[in-house]
Amino acid sequence: MSIIDKALEANRSYAKKYDPGLGKPPAPKIAVVTCMDPRLSDLSGILGLPQADIDVIRTGGPAVTEDVLGELVVSTRVLGSREIMLLNHTGCGFTTFTDDELNARLAASTGDSSPAPMRFFSYKDPEQNTREQLKKVRAHPWIAKDVPVRGFVFDVETGLLKEIHAAAKHTAA
Ligand SMILES: [Zn+2]
Repeated sequence: MSIIDKALEANRSYAKKYDPGLGKPPAPKIAVVTCMDPRLSDLSGILGLPQADIDVIRTGGPAVTEDVLGELVVSTRVLGSREIMLLNHTGCGFTTFTDDELNARLAASTGDSSPAPMRFFSYKDPEQNTREQLKKVRAHPWIAKDVPVRGFVFDVETGLLKEIHAAAKHTAA
C-alpha cells in the first residue's frame, strides 16, 4: 500500500474524532518561516507555542522568495500575526549542492536538459543565510516596522536555537 493510501485510511479514523471547533477561522500570533526538513516539523515542541498560534511558511532552506514575502504580508496584515521568526537550521540538504551542480546533475541523470535551470536557493552557511533573510524581510515596505523580525538557527544535534543578528551596519531609512 502506498503511503498516501495508508494516510487516507488513517484520515477516516481521524475525522471520526475531529473537533469541528477547529474549523473556525485561524487567529495566528506569529509567522514562522522554516525549512521543509522534517526535523523542523514539531514547531509547537521546538517553540513551546500552541499549533494554532503559528502560521508556518515552509520552503527548502528556507528560502525567502517573493512568494514567502507575500505570505508574510498576508500573515501580518490580514491574519493578525504580530511577530516574524526566520528559522534556519544546521545540516540542511540545501547546503549540499549548488544550483548549478544540481541542475547539471538532473540534466545528466534524466537525460533531459530541456527545462530552464531551476532556482533551488542552495546556500552554504545558515547564519549568513539568516542575515540575508533578515535584511530582505526588514526592507520590505509592506512589512510593518513595528513587527519584530528575528532570525535563528536550529541546531539539529542539540535542539537549541541560536539567535542571528543582522549585520551591525545600518543604513539610515
Ligand atoms: Zn533545510
